[in-house]
Amino acid sequence: MARQLDPETLLADLDPDQREAVLATSGPVAVHAGAGSGKTRVISRRTAYAIATGVVPADQVLVVTFTDRAANEMVERLRGLGLPGVTARTFHAHALSQLRHYWPVTHDGRPLPELLDSKGLIVSRLARQLPGHYRFTPSKDLSDEIEWSKARRIAPGAYEREAAAARREPPIPVDLFVRVYGDYERAKERANRIDFDDLLVETVNLLEGNGDAAATIRARKRWFSVDEYQDTNPLQQRLLELWLGDREDLCVVGDEDQTIYTFTGATSDYLTGFVARHPGAREITLSRNYRSTPQILALANRLLAAEGRRKQLVATAAPGDVPRIERFADADAEAAHLVASIRRLVGAGTPPSEIAILVRINAQIPPIEAALTKARIAFRVRGQRFFERPEVREAVRIVRRLPAEARGSLLLAAFDARLRSDLGFEAVDQGGGAEARERTASLALVLEIAAEAVAARHDLDREGLVADFETRGAAEAAASAGGDGVNLLTFHRAKGLEWDAVLLPQLEEGTLPIRQAESDAELAEERRLLYVGLTRARRFLSLSWAERRTGAGDREVRRRPSEFLGALVDRPHAGRVTVLPGAPMNAAPSRARSEDSPLMAALRAWRLDAARSDGVPAYVVAPDTLLADIADQRPTTLPALRRVKGMGPSRLGRYGEEMLEIVRGSARD
Ligand code: ATP
Ligand code: MG
Repeated sequence: MARQLDPETLLADLDPDQREAVLATSGPVAVHAGAGSGKTRVISRRTAYAIATGVVPADQVLVVTFTDRAANEMVERLRGLGLPGVTARTFHAHALSQLRHYWPVTHDGRPLPELLDSKGLIVSRLARQLPGHYRFTPSKDLSDEIEWSKARRIAPGAYEREAAAARREPPIPVDLFVRVYGDYERAKERANRIDFDDLLVETVNLLEGNGDAAATIRARKRWFSVDEYQDTNPLQQRLLELWLGDREDLCVVGDEDQTIYTFTGATSDYLTGFVARHPGAREITLSRNYRSTPQILALANRLLAAEGRRKQLVATAAPGDVPRIERFADADAEAAHLVASIRRLVGAGTPPSEIAILVRINAQIPPIEAALTKARIAFRVRGQRFFERPEVREAVRIVRRLPAEARGSLLLAAFDARLRSDLGFEAVDQGGGAEARERTASLALVLEIAAEAVAARHDLDREGLVADFETRGAAEAAASAGGDGVNLLTFHRAKGLEWDAVLLPQLEEGTLPIRQAESDAELAEERRLLYVGLTRARRFLSLSWAERRTGAGDREVRRRPSEFLGALVDRPHAGRVTVLPGAPMNAAPSRARSEDSPLMAALRAWRLDAARSDGVPAYVVAPDTLLADIADQRPTTLPALRRVKGMGPSRLGRYGEEMLEIVRGSARD
């Protein structure tokens, strides 16, 4: 098969840097490159080239991808090049196939325990046993934290120390989390199950502890490539090292500016430290971008520069339209703009499946779904659909149990109260993990949908409300069933993908960057998310934000543009990005210290009171610099407040809660 492949044709349409990477078929190789520069293409070509030139037989190759979908695409690409039989898999999938084979050998003939679909069932049972309000902690956040620990090979007993060293805040107090983690591991063992992390843990154990198995496994695959290497976690890295053994045929490919999974334990350190760990490694940088127009890349480059990076994406594509950054008066106006943009694109010949709308959190999707449904535009949600989310299903179940006689606003009040009492809903997000935010936002949206339904029919009863939710859920499912509509997905899921047209709505403070991002590292990850989003677009890119949105409890909330937009604005003579008239882009960098912000004024007023009633000078309560830092960072939880410089434990104990009250009580603008 391989002999039919002419190696020269595999090189024909590559640029010199890509060609160098493809020709480097042996030894350690690191390909660093920006978005859209052909990293994934280099992996498939290099693999094909190595096989075609007899460097490695096809069945000894392993290509590691970030998702199953990317693995399938890789297999297809290689098949397209005339190479069936190459293994392309995620770390998990490959580990699973090895464990299936070796488990009986090392466990008295017993088969590999069944795989837990998700940690959710066990963890949510444990979460419900937590004291007080903690019982509402989403099991996903607890599961994520367990995953983070296992990705770093941290056992329950070592968690407290390691988390402190990593400055990691668990979603619940640390002693409670350690208990949940330990109980989870035991419950899983009793049920004779293993989870996804165990696949990697157990394979590492197998390779470390069983020399014969390790030798056989190593003999099967000896030539490795890893795509998206910037998001590798320590456990995956260890596994990769064990697969590799003392051989050196490893090619890693990645872009540290696209690291967006550090919250799960991943780190770009393995990519940046590759040469140090593999002395003599070839390092190749791809610098030409084949995906996007120069106009789109100009924006991405400015964002990189704002991050202090000197890397530049160099365009090869023909010029296109200048990306727009648009301001709208409210969410409806922005939704109308999305609809109009899609209609215009489709009218001009862009297939709907070549259009994507990217969002920061899932709860942003339903209002967009509603607008598209109304405009009869087919769409496809990639990832979990809103009306299938557990808390949304629970909320609908609650509606079914509301008093039959309650109507209109009474129905709404009863619903609101039950969401609070039964699901722990708080209109003000109390912080916590990523899933807690998603959950709060979903429930707020559920209430908003209910309020809208009541506004339309003042005597609405529970049956009517249930019917309304069911209609929306069915519309979402139906629209998503077609398969070739406009894509709706999160920035995280967009990794590695590309579309002709990309729309990025709601680029606002509190959404991107997400409100809970406080540390520099967290903000940098938010900025990288936007970078990933910008660089998904081939020819059309539209960014937007709205000045007002409906918040929880039907309140109109004023919004500010994302601080990142400030970095995208054209400097005089530096590029060609249009900022529409009136868009206050210059006002965007809002994290600049605002001595005269309303929050600062409120903090000062509170300090005066506190100093008077405690009989101490104002600076003892809190110096100006501390108040200014609080006003900048707007911490909303005690742990976040504790991280503000100058916030010692005694000050935290004496004034922490009051300070948080002031921050929470002050509108975001
Ligand atoms: P990301 O960082 O987003 O994962 P990437 O570096 O992996 O991007 P690819 O997806 O491999 O980039 O390539 C981006 C696009 O450019 C693809 O459509 C690919 O087919 C195309 N491409 C890559 N190299 C070339 C080339 N030499 N000539 C023409 N098109 C190319
Ligand atoms: Mg790629």
